This record gives sequence, C-alpha cells and structure tokens, in this order.
Amino acid sequence: MDFELSEDMQMLEQAAREFAQSELAPRAAISDANEEFVAEQIRLCAEQGFLGMAVPEEYGGSDLGALGSSLVLIEVNNACASTGTTVSVHNSLTCESLVRFGTDEQKQKYLPRLATGELLGAYALSEAGSGSDAGSLVCKAEQDGDDWILDGSKLWISHGDQADVVIVFARTDPDAGNKGVTAFIVETSWDGYKAGKKELKMGLRGSSTVELQLDGVRVPAENVLGEVGRGFPIALSLLDTGRIGIASQAIGIAEACLEASVKYAGEREQFGKPIAAFGAIQEKIAEMAMRVDAARLLTFRAAVLKDKDQPHGREASMAKLMASQTSNYCAKEAVQIHGGAGYTRDFPVERYFRDARVTEIYEGTTEIQRLVIARSYLRK
Ligand SMILES: Cc1cc2nc3c(=O)[nH]c(=O)nc-3n(C[C@H](O)[C@H](O)[C@H](O)COP(=O)(O)OP(=O)(O)OC[C@H]3O[C@@H](n4cnc5c(N)ncnc54)[C@H](O)[C@@H]3O)c2cc1C
Repeated sequence: MDFELSEDMQMLEQAAREFAQSELAPRAAISDANEEFVAEQIRLCAEQGFLGMAVPEEYGGSDLGALGSSLVLIEVNNACASTGTTVSVHNSLTCESLVRFGTDEQKQKYLPRLATGELLGAYALSEAGSGSDAGSLVCKAEQDGDDWILDGSKLWISHGDQADVVIVFARTDPDAGNKGVTAFIVETSWDGYKAGKKELKMGLRGSSTVELQLDGVRVPAENVLGEVGRGFPIALSLLDTGRIGIASQAIGIAEACLEASVKYAGEREQFGKPIAAFGAIQEKIAEMAMRVDAARLLTFRAAVLKDKDQPHGREASMAKLMASQTSNYCAKEAVQIHGGAGYTRDFPVERYFRDARVTEIYEGTTEIQRLVIARSYLRK
C-alpha cells in the first residue's frame, strides 16, 4: 500500500492551496458577513478548471478523478467553505450525475458549459417532509404527450437561486415507493421554475440555500436522466460521491482550524510564555492533528476506490462520518485555544465553528451515516 500522493497529485494540491489562499481566503469573511453569494469566487474557481473536475476531457473538463477533486476541495474549503459547498455540489452531484447517467446528447448539451462554469449546477432532492427519508418525496411529475410536467416544492437547495441547471427528483408513480421516483434535468430559465425563500443560516453564509417552487414546469422527455422510475438509486449512488466531497470539505475546515490554532498558540503569551508551552494546549493540537490525518486517510481510501470503479458506499460514509466529526471537534478546540478572541469575528475560527456544523447534517446526517455503515455489515 502506498501512502504517498503521486507527484502530479502533490503539484495539484500545492497549486490549489496557493490559489485558494491568495484568491478565496481574503474574500471569505466578507461574503460571510454580508451573506452574499460567492459569485466572484466561483468565477475564479471556474478559471482554474475547478468546475469541471468530474467532467471528462472530451467534454472540456479537467477530469481530476475523485482523489484529485478531494485534494482541490480540501484546499478550497480550507479557505472558504461557502465556495466549497458550491463547487462540491456542482461537481459531485450535478456534473457527476450527467457523466454517469446522461445520454450522449445530454452530455454534449450540458457538460462542456458546466465544465467551464458558463452553467452552474444544483441538485434538488430534499423537501419539507422528506430529508433523511428521501424516498418519501412528493414533488410530482406527470406525463403529457412526450413531456413531463413537474409540480411541487423542494427545500434546502444549495444555490438553487443561482443555478442554471438543476437535477430534480420527482415522483412519477405515486404507488411505486422508491421505484416511483425519476431524475430530471431542469433548466432554471423554464417557465414555472422559481427560487423562493432564502434560509438565514448559522454558517455557510456565502452559499445561498433556498426553497424551490415548481409550478407546471414542462420538461421534455429527452431531459429524463437515466430511466423513468430509477431516480432513487441514482440519488443514492450520487450521494456516495457527494459524501467524499463533503468529507473533503470537513477536512479543509478542520485543517484551517488546526493551522489557525498552531499560529495563535505560538503568538499568544500567558504566564510569561506562549500558550503553546502548556501541556493542555499541546494535547489539543495533537488530538486535532491525529483526527485530521485519520479523516484524510479514510477519505482518500474512498476516493481511490471510486477512481478504480470499485464499490465505495460504505467507505464514503465512514469518511464523511469521521471527517465531519473531526471538523466539529477541531472547530470547538480551535475556539477554545483562541480563548475570548475565538469567540469574536476578529479571528476566522468563529466562522469555521459555524461552517463546520453543517457537515454533520447535509448529504446524510451523522445518524444516517452510522445506519449506512451498520447496514453494510449486518445485511451480509
Ligand atoms: C445548508 C444546507 C444545504 C443543503 N443543500 C441541499 C441540496 O443542495 N440539495 C438537497 O437535496 N438537500 C440539501 N440539504 C438538505 C439536507 O440534505 C438535509 O437537511 C438532510 O438530509 C437532513 O434532512 P432533514 O433536515 O429533513 O432532517 P431530518 O431527516 O428531519 O432529521 C432530523 C434528525 O433526525 C435524525 N434521524 C432521521 N432519521 C433517522 C433514523 N432513521 N435513525 C436515526 N436518526 C434519524 C437525523 O439524523 C437528525 O438528527 C441541505 C441542507 C442544509 C442545511
């Protein structure tokens, strides 16, 4: 087993780090404070090819694979988690869905423009009554000639008010349970698509999270993604990839917490010496560093399995569970190491603390990851 990243991957990581620290980090606190969508950050990421990480080169993508994408996402999220959420959803849920389940025509039509950032992609599965129990969704799609008419609403949709293309999951057969759900590629310029209420969130304030209204949106048959009635397994298998993305996000935030804590502990003096000299602080740093490394290893394992086209659902859940808990642990300890300063907006750890929280909630809560992992053993 090789624990060393290849030279190419190391160079990618280094380049992503330099870009994220110089271009994204200085803007992160401003977007957060103003609750302003990270549009400029997304444009800059597009210039780097970071909106085409899941897209094959033949469609104009940078095709970095799951491991390369994870390395980039760690660095982007280390600098700005709001940007990281947008980049992760666009790549690992929207682009990935078209790459894996799209027809040649769908790929030709959407992927080249998604890869350059001309189009921004979102993913609409959740509803007011269906979160963890995603299969209970009620947004409906009824056939009308060759078209489908979508009616209903979606909740919690990341950048649903900024996106051009949304993968929408709707019920095409009310009596078929999980087999009655279909995925649709919806263009947000179509009549009947409306982004509604914007959530006022604890963190990720530079990423908009909105309700969607679908009032008779007419979707042509050629925009059905995968087969009719196969939407639910598509949604679940996309979440396997998405969870590697969120694990990477959580690692990025955790690393930012560790770096800020090391810096502060070396600078802040109490009792005539830097607080880094105290055993209690050293223990925190050691624990944070160990957990970050464990999360990286689990996440890279899941990513490498995906890149080898091997099953990776359990591994992605383990990575997401470990990384999101690590992120919250590190954010809490980072605030503690900063003392009162950590509780103010003068230091970024206050933002990291708020941003980390959601990594245990979206793309499957901590409780759901445990369920997925346990079932993968108990159902053998
Ligand atoms: C900032 C943000 C962005 C998001 N972006 C998107 C997006 O782009 N697209 C999208 O489709 N969705 C998105 N979501 C929705 C997100 O995926 C859901 O919030 C998440 O799946 C949890 O669903 P819920 O909020 O309805 O919680 P619920 O499912 O109601 O869960 C509430 C609590 O009950 C627990 N629980 C539920 N079922 C079980 C069980 N069987 N066993 C044990 N415990 C259980 C949960 O773990 C949780 O602690 C986003 C959410 C947020 C907060």
